[in-house]
Amino acid sequence: MQADVSTLMATNLLASLTMAGVMVVVGWGMRREGLQLWAGALAVHAAGYLLLALRGQIDESLSILAGNALLSLALSLLLAAVLRFYETSARWVVLLAPPVLLFAALAMQLDNYGARVAISGAMYAAQAAAIVMALFLRRGETVGRGARLVMVGMGIEVCIMALRAAGGAMNTRASEQLLQAGAIQTATFLGTFVMLLVTSLGFIFMTKERADEANRLLAAFDALTGVANRRSIIAALDRDVGRAIRTRTPLALMMIDLDHFKRVNDNHGHLAGDAVLRSLVEVLGQRIRSQDIVGRYGGEEFLIVLPETTLLGARRLAAELCKAVAAHTFVYEGRQIALTVSIGVFGGLLEPGDSWDVLIHAADSALYDAKHAGRNRVEETPILPRASRDGTHPETFPASLS
Ligand code: GH3
Ligand code: MG
Ligand code: MG
Repeated sequence: MQADVSTLMATNLLASLTMAGVMVVVGWGMRREGLQLWAGALAVHAAGYLLLALRGQIDESLSILAGNALLSLALSLLLAAVLRFYETSARWVVLLAPPVLLFAALAMQLDNYGARVAISGAMYAAQAAAIVMALFLRRGETVGRGARLVMVGMGIEVCIMALRAAGGAMNTRASEQLLQAGAIQTATFLGTFVMLLVTSLGFIFMTKERADEANRLLAAFDALTGVANRRSIIAALDRDVGRAIRTRTPLALMMIDLDHFKRVNDNHGHLAGDAVLRSLVEVLGQRIRSQDIVGRYGGEEFLIVLPETTLLGARRLAAELCKAVAAHTFVYEGRQIALTVSIGVFGGLLEPGDSWDVLIHAADSALYDAKHAGRNRVEETPILPRASRDGTHPETFPASLS
């Protein structure tokens, strides 16, 4: 298949400008993510194509040298955008080296079309490969498929430009010119068109997926301590209650409350209190199993959901946690703060109809007993208060929150 080269070039020019416009709109106010750099790269790409398309109408060396240097600069800016996305700063010397080198190399081969195709093709292939590599090395840092799309798009560019370079190298005395139709020309421009769309959409997805992930984390985790927030610990408990009923396995729940925590704030300040809450989560986290979930239920109250755990097991663990906290020295700005916790435990087999809020009620009333029995201790509720079951808690029912 052969197509009119001028039309293909005009299409690519327009595609670059359109995607640049889309990026500016999508990326408004998100400069740090690299979207504006990517849009700038596309605008430079369009300018490069304009100079190439004007071959024969403007000064030959301007079209060849500046046109190709701009395309190379566009690829450098795409790399800079990817690096900016990963909060790595791009070394401008490294980014400017390819266009400058390309300009110089092409200037020495102005009369040799085949050599120019080989040189520019090799440079573009290397620059696209650098972008693929930058993404590949950071593949663990992003969620979603946007980065993969960019890698595939840039992979296409690497293949096409490598082919183009090989074709040019084998044909250094060819009379073929840029604006003449040919299989390599058609493949180059169609491939570039696909690359433009796939990589630009992929990059937009990358920024969107990152924002979604940040929102998901904000919605699920407590900002101060990093453990599940109230909403997600209740959702986890709700899920585990359902599973425990289905599989007829025991489930345990602990409610932990810091003793006289108000005094920590009063004596050492709220920042000290915050630091204590973070350390407490670490102390708890070190002693639970991977399937157990810690969540912050309220200010200084934490829940631990313990699947497949009997009351006896939960009570033992609670006693251990109580001891560990009492033995731990919390330190804030060199000052030592001694603290204890009281823990209310529920554990046992559930029946169809039991719900998460009844379990919380059970653990909470055990906690109340622990406070009244003198604090720094564990109390338990072996039986769910089923008779007093009064439906779900309207404020925190997971279904209404999800
Ligand atoms: P008790 O042994 O009866 O539980 O006494 P307490 O002082 O721990 O209980 P109280 O409910 O009177 O006080 C809880 C305190 O926890 C009051 C509140 O300022 C503090 N608190 C809740 N959330 C935070 C937080 O995120 N950071 C800090 N620094 N303090 C918090
Ligand atoms: Mg307290
Ligand atoms: Mg409390």
